[in-house]
Amino acid sequence: MRKTIISLNEVSFHYEGQERNALHKVSFDIYEGEWLAIVGHNGSGKSTMAKLLNGLQFPQQGEITVCGIRLNDESIWEIRKKLGMVFQNPDNQFVGTTVQDDVAFGLENHGIPRDDMILRVGDSLKKVKMDQFLNQEPHHLSGGQKQRVAIAGVLALKPSIIILDEATSMLDPKGRGEVLETVRALKEEKALTVISITHDLEEAAKADRIIVMNKGEVYRKGNPEEIFSLDEELVHLGLDIPFSIKMSNAFRRKGINLSKHYLSEEELVNELWTFRSKI
Ligand code: ADP
Ligand code: MG
Repeated sequence: MRKTIISLNEVSFHYEGQERNALHKVSFDIYEGEWLAIVGHNGSGKSTMAKLLNGLQFPQQGEITVCGIRLNDESIWEIRKKLGMVFQNPDNQFVGTTVQDDVAFGLENHGIPRDDMILRVGDSLKKVKMDQFLNQEPHHLSGGQKQRVAIAGVLALKPSIIILDEATSMLDPKGRGEVLETVRALKEEKALTVISITHDLEEAAKADRIIVMNKGEVYRKGNPEEIFSLDEELVHLGLDIPFSIKMSNAFRRKGINLSKHYLSEEELVNELWTFRSKI
């Protein structure tokens, strides 16, 4: 049985002055140890959801439970220790003058004693392979390196859950790969639950499960295979279909029936080779 780690029950959120709810009656569970991708067009409510999970905003309706704790203004500090966030812009979240100061900053905010702090800073920078850069200043780092430091800052608090809100979208392909690999390795090692908010379906394809948001509501939930079988529906929702899916669809239209709806580029190439040998 999968164990629920986060649960949203009929959650609605409305920004003052806005016509419609940014989130409207959103309900779903997130399971311990899974990699969940949340996708949706710009303005579909993804960041609002991240802010609600972290207690930066509170829903006007509905309730959120994290690790069995009902989220409210009394429990947010306890919940923020369990749930770390990495945001989009690597420069906006770098607050220290050096790499190690930056990681220490969050720990100071949580009142961690100095001895423990030093250990945790060293440990978490090692885990993201940034321990060679302890005294580096941020302007010497690439975007991917800065995001890895941000992840170290989160890890230092020993969370059970990491939320990445478009954390790779400002990075070049190399930086994006570095960050995703780092999170993947951490997830394997520490049984972290990962919530990756992204408009990049290529990235979402690697998740265990995907939730598609549309206009503040949950449009569909499923594994990548199920979600990618929506084909053109995804385009209508304002999402970019990955290249390998577009290719697969084009082959299907030509009467070549591929085994699955979602095939990575590598799988697609392999499958096409088997077709070739059958001709
Ligand atoms: P996403 O992250 O999917 O792009 P957001 O959660 O940022 O979506 O936005 C959801 C909706 O809420 C949008 O219509 C957006 O314009 C609105 N919104 C977001 N932040 C604010 C804000 N601070 N004040 C008013 N409206 C906001
Ligand atoms: Mg957003």
